[in-house]
Amino acid sequence: MAHIIEIMKLEELLQATPEHQITMFQALTNRNHLLTKINGIDLWIYDVENNMFNVMFRDGAGNVQSSTHPILDYEETPEGKINPSRPLCKESQIRWNALLHNLSVDPSLPEEGYIDLDYKNRSRRVRSYYKVSKDAEGKIKFISGTSEDISKTQEHMKAVIESQNEYIRVINGLKSTFESIIYIDLQDHSFKLLESSMRMRNFAEQFTNAQEFIDDLIAKTFLPEYKQEIKELSSLDTIKQRLADRRYISFEYQNTEMTWLKLKVLPAEYTPQGELTHIIVTSEIVDEEHKTLDQLKIKSERDGLTGLYNRSTGVAQIEQQLHEESGLLALFDCDKFKLINDTYGHLVGDKVLIVVAQTLQKVFEGQVVFRLGGDEFVSYLTQSFIDKKAAEGINTLGIFQQLRAELSNVDIPELCGQCPSISFGVAKSDKDNLLPFDELYKTADISLYQCKKYGRIDLHKM
Ligand code: GH3
Ligand code: MG
Repeated sequence: MAHIIEIMKLEELLQATPEHQITMFQALTNRNHLLTKINGIDLWIYDVENNMFNVMFRDGAGNVQSSTHPILDYEETPEGKINPSRPLCKESQIRWNALLHNLSVDPSLPEEGYIDLDYKNRSRRVRSYYKVSKDAEGKIKFISGTSEDISKTQEHMKAVIESQNEYIRVINGLKSTFESIIYIDLQDHSFKLLESSMRMRNFAEQFTNAQEFIDDLIAKTFLPEYKQEIKELSSLDTIKQRLADRRYISFEYQNTEMTWLKLKVLPAEYTPQGELTHIIVTSEIVDEEHKTLDQLKIKSERDGLTGLYNRSTGVAQIEQQLHEESGLLALFDCDKFKLINDTYGHLVGDKVLIVVAQTLQKVFEGQVVFRLGGDEFVSYLTQSFIDKKAAEGINTLGIFQQLRAELSNVDIPELCGQCPSISFGVAKSDKDNLLPFDELYKTADISLYQCKKYGRIDLHKM
């Protein structure tokens, strides 16, 4: 790091006028072949006490420029931008500011070192060397440094490849996981199919323009609800900007055959100046992942024993329904359930709970039914359900009698001829005079207590 030693002389520049600074800077770069050899060089000094950043750099025309601005606004203030055409990516910018901040507050950090930073388009990586200089009392006064372009070094190429391991996955021949891999030239929108099913290949043969090909594919194979979103995502005119600070863009959708697919757009090639010229679009079937997700969703919503909705999902569903339709909240509790557990064992008790759940679902078909916990269940009978039953000649009490009748026909051999029985309580819900679930539950619980005590419930009094 010979040039770091040279850079220390830059501290003198802090006192000089901007014109003088530039002359000195040029003199320094001319004298030091190490520095002049570096492509895209900049030299900088961070004045810790004043939180000011003094930078000297070559502009696009190769002229030396200098600027001064607060470090934390680096790249942000319009007048202080070092090189607006090549801003650091956000992550690098944060690391960079954090490094300078930490160096100025933590004396135990190494006084000399470097940090690698990426520009937004990722095709350019610079290595910024720094060195700390202290005053007589050991307090850090300046942090100075320089940057060199290491984009062409082997190390950087490795980093680029690692950071784009999606791309590697493509070129390493794991092609079988992909439905198709399309390589698109962003200049003329020509494209090549690197991998594809026969069907896709036949389809693609009709096109020479990637945008037309993609648009037609969307029109023919996407479900309507995804079309608009994917059309915006796949617009080749804006893809460069949208990929500027990202490793890839991905989107999952279901095709007309209800198969889940994942589309990914990845940067593939850049010009030496860092302009994106080619992208890769992959599509892979992700049905399995979706099935697993669906299963997890079911697990989180359902009661493990009975398969009914669990308490939180059931309450949420009913709360929504209360707003939509008047009806009857019904609470159920198995009779003498402890005795069943104690006499025949927990496994038989479980069996009873499963049978009760199935019977509730059968009698209240189409209505929300959930397990509140233990031997308690809840259902919400909507007015339209009650009306439908009335049209069949079954009044509200009749629905509950039907439930008891169904249970009296249940055959669980371990119960030695006994049948499970349940008590219930109800609370009327009026959409136009809405009570919260908890209030309705309280009323239904009192009603359930009456039912347990007297073995019946007078629905007409409700
Ligand atoms: P009552 O007629 O007054 O309702 O009397 P009960 O014996 O049914 O009393 P209670 O409703 O309070 O008892 C519920 C019992 O349910 C208590 C608990 O041991 C049992 N239980 C709770 N969860 C489960 C379960 O998942 N499986 C089994 N087998 N038993 C359970
Ligand atoms: Mg009970």
